[in-house]
Amino acid sequence: MASIVDVFPARSDNFGYLVHDEASGRTAAIDAPEAGAIRTALLHRGWTLTDILITHHHIDHVEAIAELKAAFGARVVGPRAEADKIEGLDELVGDGDTVTVGETVFDVIATPGHTLGHVVFHDRVGKRLFSADALFSLGVGRMFEGTPGPMWEGVKRLRDLPDDTLVYCGHEYTESNAQFALSIDPDNAALQGRAGEVRALRKAGRPTIPFHLGEDKKANPFLRADAPELARHYGLEGKDAGEVFAAIRRGKDNF
Ligand code: ZN
Ligand code: FE
Repeated sequence: MASIVDVFPARSDNFGYLVHDEASGRTAAIDAPEAGAIRTALLHRGWTLTDILITHHHIDHVEAIAELKAAFGARVVGPRAEADKIEGLDELVGDGDTVTVGETVFDVIATPGHTLGHVVFHDRVGKRLFSADALFSLGVGRMFEGTPGPMWEGVKRLRDLPDDTLVYCGHEYTESNAQFALSIDPDNAALQGRAGEVRALRKAGRPTIPFHLGEDKKANPFLRADAPELARHYGLEGKDAGEVFAAIRRGKDNF
C-alpha cells in the first residue's frame, strides 16, 4: 500500500505536511511548525499522529514538538548533529540512515548549509522528497550556518534524485525565488515557463508545492550552478561550480 500526503499552510509562510501510511495507519508530521494547524489537519483527515520527523532546529520547524508529543505520545525523530539544539527528540538520525513509518521508508540525506545539521527525508518508493529549507522551488534556504562548498555538495545529491520526484519544501517562497532567478538567468525557457505558472498559481491563491524535481533541475539557478550561463553571469567562467553557487547565494541575499 501507499502513503497519502496532506499539505496545509502553517504560521505565516510555512507548509505543514502529514504523511499517512495506509497499511499501518501511522501518520507522520514532517516538522512541527504549528500545533494548531497540525491538529486541524489531523482532525480533518481523521488521522492520529504517531511520528514527527524533524529536519532542523529552527523554531518554525520545531515549536510544536512538545505540545504534539504531550497530546499524541508521538515518536520524534531528528538530526543527530542538532540534538543539542532540539528539545524532545527520541531517535537521532544522520546521513544514510532510514526512518520507517509503517511500510513507508525514508532515506535520510544530510544537506548542510541552511543549518549545519539539516537533513531531508526521501521516500524512494513513493518518489517524494521532504526538503524543508534545504531546497525550495527555484531556490535554496539562506545559508545561516554552513559554507558554500558543502552546501553545494548536498544540493547536488538532491539533484541526483530521479526527475519524477515530487518535492515538498518548507516554505512558500517560489514567487520571489522566480523573480531573482529570472534576474540572473533571463534566457532560460524552462524558468520562464515555471515563473509564469507560479504567478498564475499565486494569483489564484494556490500553493506552488509540491513541485517536480525534474522541472526544477532545469529552472532553479542553485541546481544549475555548474551551467556555463550562470558562471558567465557572474564573470566566473572556468571557475569551480561551488564558487558560482556561492555567488548565486550572495546575489539572492542582496536581491
Ligand atoms: Zn529554517
Ligand atoms: Fe523554515
